Amino acid sequence: MSSTGQNLKIALQRKGRLADGSLQLLRAAGLDFDYHEGKLFSSCANFPLDILFLRDDDIPEYVQDQVTDLGIVGLNVTQERGAEVAQLDCLGFGTCVLSIAVPRKGTLRTVFDLNGKRVATSHPRILGRFLDAKDIKAKVIEISGSVEITPSLDVADAICDLVSTGSTLRMNDLEPIEIVLRSEAVLIANPSSLADERKRELVERLRIRIQGNIRARRTKYVMMNAPEAALEAIRAILPGMKSPTIVPLADPGMIAIHSAVPEEFFWDVIERLKRAGASDILVVPVEKMVI
Ligand code: ATP
Ligand code: MG
Repeated sequence: MSSTGQNLKIALQRKGRLADGSLQLLRAAGLDFDYHEGKLFSSCANFPLDILFLRDDDIPEYVQDQVTDLGIVGLNVTQERGAEVAQLDCLGFGTCVLSIAVPRKGTLRTVFDLNGKRVATSHPRILGRFLDAKDIKAKVIEISGSVEITPSLDVADAICDLVSTGSTLRMNDLEPIEIVLRSEAVLIANPSSLADERKRELVERLRIRIQGNIRARRTKYVMMNAPEAALEAIRAILPGMKSPTIVPLADPGMIAIHSAVPEEFFWDVIERLKRAGASDILVVPVEKMVI
């Protein structure tokens, strides 16, 4: 299928922390397209979708101006750019927090100590809103990169920056004192594209595929053997287990219980399941999950 004006268009980050996750998500959704580093444009062979590879900062505006119908970008970026776009789904990758951090050996301890101080950030709009809401009068200094070195250069007293593991902060003798925003990659859409019936239908088809993968990643298929009498106790331990499949075993009074279970319910409870009588517990990944 080659590109036509009829195709849906999506913008992804060309290079950077969201690039791999975005490509993997589209591939896992069954989309077939050519990609090599440096490519700017690709058309899907098996879905009417064109992919544009852009700088992440530009994606919210491109979606707002309907250069593309959809985009995948960090929540922090769409909120910072303030573009008029619809936010459709959280995508479960690119997770990080926008945090305020201060020099470890300094006197600043809480955000209220920032009154009258300078805070450097590449997210002035989000930080400004956060400080206003708490009525903290700090000077926001906009820096486009390497925000973490500004305290040591005496350009700022504190910073507000994205953190995932915290190692960059530690290397710069900074410690986080407050979370301003929890972020992850999100699917955004142009509101007029969503109002167009044909495009809306394509967007929904794509979302079903994407959500099917996100759900599958968060779900495990669990199989275990147990005495028939233990079934209710096992269901009580795994609240996420809906309507399990029960298979009688050759041993009288023994059953196999099979069910899709949200991963978050599972790892803490294996010991309790065993105590309730479960044995031979198998946990397998789920490839796709459409409900
Ligand atoms: P571009 O060249 O596309 O403008 P960039 O340098 O602005 O890229 P990246 O560093 O690739 O951006 O980060 C892209 C997004 O990844 C961030 O906006 C954020 O949503 C997410 N992210 C996840 N973890 C981190 C992290 N530790 N630091 C920065 N961003 C992170
Ligand atoms: Mg950027």
